[in-house]
Amino acid sequence: MLMADGEVSVFGDGIAYFNEAAALLDLDAGVRKILTKPTRQIIFSIPFMRDNGELEVYTGYRVQYSFARGPAKGGVRFHPGVTLDEVTALAFWMTWKCAIVDLPFGGGKGGVTCDPTKLSRSEIERITRRYAAELVEVVGPDKDVPAPDVGTTPEIMAWFMDTYSMHVRQHTPGVVTGKPVEVGGSRGRVEATGRGVSLVALAQMKDMGMDAHGAMIVVQGFGNVGSIAAQMFAEAGSKIVGISDVSGGYHNPNGIDVGGAVAYVKEHGTLRGYRGGELLSNEDLLELPCDVLVPAALEKVLTVDNAPRIKAKLIVEGANGPTTPDADRIFNERGIVVIPDIIANAGGVTVSYFEWAQDRNGYFWKEKEVNERLADVLDTNFTLIREIAATRHVPLRMAAYMLAIDRVAKAMMIRGMYA
Ligand code: NAD
Repeated sequence: MLMADGEVSVFGDGIAYFNEAAALLDLDAGVRKILTKPTRQIIFSIPFMRDNGELEVYTGYRVQYSFARGPAKGGVRFHPGVTLDEVTALAFWMTWKCAIVDLPFGGGKGGVTCDPTKLSRSEIERITRRYAAELVEVVGPDKDVPAPDVGTTPEIMAWFMDTYSMHVRQHTPGVVTGKPVEVGGSRGRVEATGRGVSLVALAQMKDMGMDAHGAMIVVQGFGNVGSIAAQMFAEAGSKIVGISDVSGGYHNPNGIDVGGAVAYVKEHGTLRGYRGGELLSNEDLLELPCDVLVPAALEKVLTVDNAPRIKAKLIVEGANGPTTPDADRIFNERGIVVIPDIIANAGGVTVSYFEWAQDRNGYFWKEKEVNERLADVLDTNFTLIREIAATRHVPLRMAAYMLAIDRVAKAMMIRGMYA
């Protein structure tokens, strides 16, 4: 997080990883200084009218952390907890995530401090349009490309795109990604993150001599990421022995019928009342005997308290930040391999990049083509990460940070300092 004087002090858990990787790379002190400061932070007011006629003002943010490798890229969060510090930390983190999968983007993030669950659809539309209008000069396909994040949806991206297009008097689908397919979204985007989680997991399992067929998998969180990943593991012949959501965990050592669970959630909204497994708490679910554990719900669920009791051989971080640095150290000591979030869940931003490329070309790919290209990007870059881990004797997380920081620093140095 940023200190009052603007100095970067902690910057979430990410800055600690950054410093460790920068030391291993022997990164120049000046480059470090630049990479630990956001390029631009924008704060503005969003006045709007409630449905009952009352006037309200919310605060909006956009942080453009780095442009070294291309336009800034990162989601827009609508949540009561949004602050400048949080948005800055997320933009910092997007810089590495885009670089890890070698996308021609820098890093950015935005948000509005509001509670969308207490707002009507038309109120959210007015907030979105005002938010987009305030940013017209600084976003754009070659400047900064927002996307959905917590509390924002494909429909909200369509409103953003429409508002921007009206202002610039030109249809500009490439200003945001994560749009509905009808207005320039990409096929395969919805499934991309969960698909990526299972692709990197299956590659790592092969490396570790683990047979995917019959491997026991536990997935925490059965939303977009978790349910798609579970379906793909099941397709590979693995046995999903535990799933969970906000209603609790469900354990079935004989294997959960994933298709049935997906249909149950579609009908009931959550897994509450699901009878395909024995009910247990989300905490106990994480400690079930299994080969692969996929936290795909919340941050900081694997901590110093439960890390000694985790039985998985491989942890694949579908969620952002599910492992605390202390727990990470314990996993390293115990020989449990962790595929870090910045590569494990990078499938989403990769297909966002495909969406941007398709929008700019006005030519749209078949889903099969999207999926093949996604597999290629993840395979190429995850292979590089594993090579760095092997040659430098560091965990995959550190190897991923090293790859990303090296790419951003090189781009910065090749471009040189302007003025
Ligand atoms: P989602 O809202 O579709 O699903 C979240 C799931 O977590 C739901 O099943 C919900 O019931 C469950 N959950 C909520 N609270 C819980 C709790 N206390 N214990 C257990 N489960 C709980 O969200 P998503 O898009 O699947 O995102 C999940 C994670 O993946 C988040 O950390 C998100 O930031 C990350 N992520 C998502 C994408 C993407 O493209 N969707 C991309 C990158 C990272």
